[in-house]
Amino acid sequence: MTQPAFQSSEHPQMVWQKISTILQDIIPPQSYLTWFKPIEALAYDQKTLTLRIPSQFCHDWIESHYHDPLHQAVKDVLGENIVVMYDINPGKPQIISERIAYREKSAPTSDYTSTLSISASYTHLNPRYRFSNFIEGDCNSFARAAALSLAETPGKNPFNPLLIYGGSGLGKTHLMQAIGNRAVELGRVKKVLYVTSEQFTSDFIKGIQDGKKDVFIKNYRNVDLLLLDDVQFFMTKEKTQEEFFHTFNSLHQVGKLLVFSSDRPPNELNGFDKRLVSRLQWGLVAEVQKPEYETRLAILKNLSKENGIDISDDIAHFLSVHISTNIRSLQSALIQLLAQSSLMGREITLDLAREAIKKQHNQPSYTISVDQIQEMVAREMDIPSDLIRSKTRKKEVVRARHIAMYLTTEYTILTQKTIGLHFGGRNHATVIHAVKVVNELIENNVKVREMIAKIRRDIDIALI
Ligand code: ADP
Ligand code: MG
Repeated sequence: MTQPAFQSSEHPQMVWQKISTILQDIIPPQSYLTWFKPIEALAYDQKTLTLRIPSQFCHDWIESHYHDPLHQAVKDVLGENIVVMYDINPGKPQIISERIAYREKSAPTSDYTSTLSISASYTHLNPRYRFSNFIEGDCNSFARAAALSLAETPGKNPFNPLLIYGGSGLGKTHLMQAIGNRAVELGRVKKVLYVTSEQFTSDFIKGIQDGKKDVFIKNYRNVDLLLLDDVQFFMTKEKTQEEFFHTFNSLHQVGKLLVFSSDRPPNELNGFDKRLVSRLQWGLVAEVQKPEYETRLAILKNLSKENGIDISDDIAHFLSVHISTNIRSLQSALIQLLAQSSLMGREITLDLAREAIKKQHNQPSYTISVDQIQEMVAREMDIPSDLIRSKTRKKEVVRARHIAMYLTTEYTILTQKTIGLHFGGRNHATVIHAVKVVNELIENNVKVREMIAKIRRDIDIALI
């Protein structure tokens, strides 16, 4: 085991300086300046290092982008088993990185277990992921209800095991972690293990290599709730699948809770043992889908509230309209915006929002053209597409034009002025009017609402 290089009497700032030096070597200079330079060490007592961090979003950014380098640097300087605490609101330190408690208690102190507990430092339950900050929408309400029931209902649960599947960044990990946090809170379970399938695999391999498979088995089969994230990772790994199969059986037989996530439905888990695929579906299979506009808006509002920053309705609308496929991208655009505003002192304006989403290169907003949208709308409404750009004021054509303008606002990042130009040289006021008219139609006219939903699906398919 590494000996701590610092004693508790060391000044926390000196400790942090040493950690910073390591970080500066491994993190690009601009990122270091933005995210780590503002950090101050408040306290160090051989078990815990408390860092003051400027805001919640800095904390989230560091956790999602620099968790491993930071924790490695802390380990290099202070040795193992150090808990890093963050003081975000002065006076209210919040533990965000803790080892899984049961491992600390039950694992013997061999070299192997110490490796496991290091790995466990990034397989912890993250207290940030809760049901209370999980925004419900049509896209996820079924999965959420199943997750909540599993976390809260005592006794045998028909939803056990629960498999949550869906695309990346749609809230699978959040829901799984929320189950863990809630079940612990209610005292329904004592030992929870949240682990990614990658981690499961590497713990398994390490167990075999070190001749300590029994330790591996003990750790994984001695839990009340196992949360295993991203099982698609097992796809080509036969031996790991087999081990997972045994873990599954052993826990399921004694009524322990099991939750899995996958980025695809079970029937698309190619290369999976059939028995395993069948077991994954023994309980309930719930999909999380792409969020609809209202959910995206609510998520943004909630996130900005959590960060103590109010963004205007305009900006929230703009981001929700332009980032439609993935909640993670939505969050990171907002975080960028907040970072720019807080660290660079820039005001949050629509232009800044535009810049932030331009950075989201893989957003579909950039891959569909105005022409394509006009084509799709024209096809759906059975009119020639050039009429949309013409001067015609026929009712049917005006409606198609309005809908195409509306969808162009949603799927591209063009300004209203530029959009107007694509529609036969109309001005920006026409585009604003079109968006208003279509919003009202969506509200009051089922046929239009369904037609727009159909065109959106066509666009989404074209974007894949
Ligand atoms: P996945 O595991 O499906 O890739 P995550 O659970 O990691 O996605 O979600 C990505 C980010 O979006 C996380 O920060 C998560 O908190 C947030 N998020 C996802 N869905 C919601 C939701 N319904 N409400 C609030 N935040 C959400
Ligand atoms: Mg995930």
